[in-house]
Amino acid sequence: MSTRIITIDGPAGAGKTTITKLLSQRLGCVYVDTGALYRGVAFELQQQKINWEDKAALENFLKNLDLNFVMENDVLVLMSSGRNITDFIRSPEISMLASSSSAKPQVRAALLDIQRNIAKTKDAVFEGRDMGTVVFPDAAVKFFLFADLNVRAKRRFDEMPDETKDIQKVQEQMEIRDHNDSQRKSAPLRPAVDAIEIDSSILTIEQVVEKMLEYIEKACKA
Ligand code: C5P
Repeated sequence: MSTRIITIDGPAGAGKTTITKLLSQRLGCVYVDTGALYRGVAFELQQQKINWEDKAALENFLKNLDLNFVMENDVLVLMSSGRNITDFIRSPEISMLASSSSAKPQVRAALLDIQRNIAKTKDAVFEGRDMGTVVFPDAAVKFFLFADLNVRAKRRFDEMPDETKDIQKVQEQMEIRDHNDSQRKSAPLRPAVDAIEIDSSILTIEQVVEKMLEYIEKACKA
């Protein structure tokens, strides 16, 4: 029996995570935030002080990497070698390190099986950068969610608890990540040719979710 996979790709701050969660609830399936896996890699690279530009060191690190997701009270929890690291992967430093280390083809290859294995047994909504283009080219419905840079930066800024936060810096870092993610050779951020593109700048979260549900219903009837 094959599973139904929906993909949502797009840049940081477009609303992917919130929308993916809501959509999966409405569809009664699981959600998978693949950015958390790249953040998990970045966290472990930092903790273990790995020089990831050194090919042999990176390969050895990836051989021993043990990341997986568990669901706790409807929340996705990231485990690394049995330790819950969910609370440590959202800092700006980890965001930037995830963005640069995710350009390495070896890193992407190491995470491919984890993502595809989840999809083997469960209907799911996957969010990331290359879900529709590389990881799930045969997904039932593919979305590409985007928004203006200043709107995305403001959303990320509002989410940050840090008192010392600076919107200019948030926007600059977002721009660097957009550039890294879309210009890299391996699985760059771009819409799949058959993706439905949605601009979330002028829509509420609920409006985006409703729009997506309409597309999914239409596609699954066809
Ligand atoms: O989505 P999130 O902002 O948590 O992702 C962190 C970083 O992980 C991104 O900037 C991107 O470089 C990388 N990523 C990726 N491919 C994915 C998901 C995330 O390269 N499928």
